[in-house]
Amino acid sequence: MNTEYFKKTFRDIFQAEAVLFKSPGRINIIGEHTDYNGGLVMPAAIDKAVYVAVSKRDDHEIHLYSESYQSKYVSSVAAIQKTEHNWVNYILGVANEMVQRGHQLGGFNLFIYGDVPLGAGLSSSAAVECATAFALNYINQLSIPQMELALISQKAEHTFAGVNCGIMDQFASVFGKKDQAMMLDCRSMEYEYIPLKLDGYKLVLLNTNVKHSLSDSAYNERREQCDKGVNWIKDHHASVEYLRDVTQEMLLAHVKAKDENVYRKCSYVVAEIERVKKAAAALKNGDLSTLGKLMFETHKGLSEDYEVSCKELDFLVDQVKGLDYVLGARMMGGGFGGCTLNIVRDEEIDRLIDNVSVKYLEKFGLKLDAYIVETGNGSQII
Ligand code: ADP
Ligand code: MG
Repeated sequence: MNTEYFKKTFRDIFQAEAVLFKSPGRINIIGEHTDYNGGLVMPAAIDKAVYVAVSKRDDHEIHLYSESYQSKYVSSVAAIQKTEHNWVNYILGVANEMVQRGHQLGGFNLFIYGDVPLGAGLSSSAAVECATAFALNYINQLSIPQMELALISQKAEHTFAGVNCGIMDQFASVFGKKDQAMMLDCRSMEYEYIPLKLDGYKLVLLNTNVKHSLSDSAYNERREQCDKGVNWIKDHHASVEYLRDVTQEMLLAHVKAKDENVYRKCSYVVAEIERVKKAAAALKNGDLSTLGKLMFETHKGLSEDYEVSCKELDFLVDQVKGLDYVLGARMMGGGFGGCTLNIVRDEEIDRLIDNVSVKYLEKFGLKLDAYIVETGNGSQII
């Protein structure tokens, strides 16, 4: 990102001097579909980010310009509402949430640019929200604590983007640190940095470039299945609140006989929360190969038990399984499309991407996109 070019473009568009903010996208190393079960996740911020340049206005108008969409939008602080422009909603959603919480906002100019791939599961939307939240907090001198900026961003996604997400994406975009993963407890919001030393290896994302329409209905169905399991167990263990509190023994005793399918769904979640703990222990020991094995296990669970994978994701994981230079691979995100996350030995990355791309094209007639990502720092002024 060329900050001088960014500032000059801002000056040309708005005839004002800008302050710049950066918020990264994120990956989730392990801990999938555990967030809404009060469980553990292990995200890391990446080196791809959304950048916003902002300045205060003398009036109460809001002027937005997106570089990616080459598009302008004008509104005002008194008339913030959802629009039919997707990219605008993430920004106005944050402004709206701040106003709802009683913060005084003045008018502002905002220019947005980013290199987080859109809709690939790297949470470009959270990056937009967090960058906006940091920018508005700064120019209005609101002194909102960082955790609240993450929560404001999450709420914007609920209200203005209509996506009922957990806190992981915004949390990672705010609190990420280079060379660190974070183990976040989605119930208590306690978190811990865990060194992610990848010596000789890199994180490679392979994008299926598909998004199957099943995604939303399956997500709701999985949430219901998890709730069902919890409720059956509650009859016997009153203190159980989430699958987080449940053991495999409880599932065998109180769920399996009632509904085999609900059992498999719950069993995946309980196993996955354990895997996050094991992954944290492995990383603390610098044991990347154990982390990799856990990632393959996660994929198997998501595919066969939780049933949120798809043939494209399964194909990509199958292609790298058994290669001695790929330590681990799994689908990442909600499922039914998006990317796989792979830990690949440096020297083999190009060859791997070439090989898998050819096979993916042959098999599905689809282009494969690959991104090599590094970990990066969280939201900041630049
Ligand atoms: P993901 O968060 O997985 O990337 P989403 O569909 O949740 O996918 O969010 C993508 C949306 O976020 C885009 O359609 C766009 O509206 C908005 N967005 C992301 N990056 C930018 C950007 N650089 N400029 C403007 N809008 C962006
Ligand atoms: Mg998103």
